[in-house]
Amino acid sequence: MSKTAWIEQEIASLKEQGLFTHIRTIESPMGAWLQVDGKRVLNFCANNYLGLANHPKLVEAAKAAIEKYGIGPGAVRTIAGTMSLHVELEKRLAEFKGVEAAITFQSGFNANLATIPALVGRGDVIFSDRLNHASIIDGCRLSRAKIVAYEHCNPDDLRKKIAEETEYNRRLIVTDGVFSMDGDIAPLPELYEVAAEHDILLMVDDAHGEGVLGKGGRGIVDHFDLHGKVDIEVGTMSKAFGVVGGVVAGKQIIVDWLRQRGRPFLFSSAMTVPDTAACLAAVDLLEESTELVDRLWKNAEFFKGEMKKLGFDTGHTETPIVPIMLGEAPLAQEFSRRLFEEGVFAMAIGYPTVPKGLARIRVMNTAAHSQDDLEFGLWAFEKVGKELGVIS
Ligand SMILES: *Cc1c(COP(=O)(O)O)cnc(C)c1O
Repeated sequence: MSKTAWIEQEIASLKEQGLFTHIRTIESPMGAWLQVDGKRVLNFCANNYLGLANHPKLVEAAKAAIEKYGIGPGAVRTIAGTMSLHVELEKRLAEFKGVEAAITFQSGFNANLATIPALVGRGDVIFSDRLNHASIIDGCRLSRAKIVAYEHCNPDDLRKKIAEETEYNRRLIVTDGVFSMDGDIAPLPELYEVAAEHDILLMVDDAHGEGVLGKGGRGIVDHFDLHGKVDIEVGTMSKAFGVVGGVVAGKQIIVDWLRQRGRPFLFSSAMTVPDTAACLAAVDLLEESTELVDRLWKNAEFFKGEMKKLGFDTGHTETPIVPIMLGEAPLAQEFSRRLFEEGVFAMAIGYPTVPKGLARIRVMNTAAHSQDDLEFGLWAFEKVGKELGVIS
């Protein structure tokens, strides 16, 4: 037996179960329409909520910054010094979010890996929503703290779990802001109540709320008007901001600590120059006008309403993320394949990203879609849905 025979077996098994992920190749810029594997298709997959991934202002800003600063940051910031662009972005993000300070990372994933182990360790306890994102789970594991999962979006269960944990040094409560597979929003005001009652650090990962929730996309803390109450806000610039990069926003003291002890900050280089400049341009756009955020929500409400009228089960989303619940993974894969033939790019999502038996197609609405685009998408869903017996 070769050393990798087990991998061949695992992959064959994934293929049999309809759980093997085929990655499509995109041959055009991000937008409402894409050239994918040689075919022009409507894009319902990207987290490019505001259509910024190919926005002329971001492209211009990146070009101008390259002219001035080149491309790469050279080394990690604590060793080689930090570029004024990164400092400027952190200042602007802190202002945008209405917090004391912010620190950027190479990605949202890294922001979680940096933050959680810097705040808790062996002998400490983390209370984590059962459906938290993989990067939160990995950050929790890296910390070596005890991880106690509480029932999804359930502050009463959180209270119960806290009462059961009597042996601890420090404690942390961590939750996704928007849960990306279902589109539901964490009950942050209630979680804050619990955190305040017990004087526990509260951290929210607002990757899908950044640029989406709150006034002009200021995020979940603004949405619930909890300014100054949530200790740590993690965010990403790879979704609504249309670029790449992670951010942690909150109290100055916590940001200062992450500059000393956040391992992905200390041991991995910073965002590149064009990324950083493009993110600055994204903040400019968001501060100038709420137009894109407003259009995103208008599109999402229209699409959700029409899908429900057609008879699809769209779960319990409260955001522009629309899951179309299909059950078994092979049906979801077949649905996605047929949509693609009809000119719609919407990926099937199955285990392990979502629980077994809860496979779905996930539609990401954006501000880049026109009314015609949405109607075309609805036409394709109706056609394939009837053909596969999902709706009548
Ligand atoms: C997407 C996502 C991340 C990862 O963000 P990247 O910037 O792409 O690394 C982290 N947390 C949550 C909740 C996410 O949805």
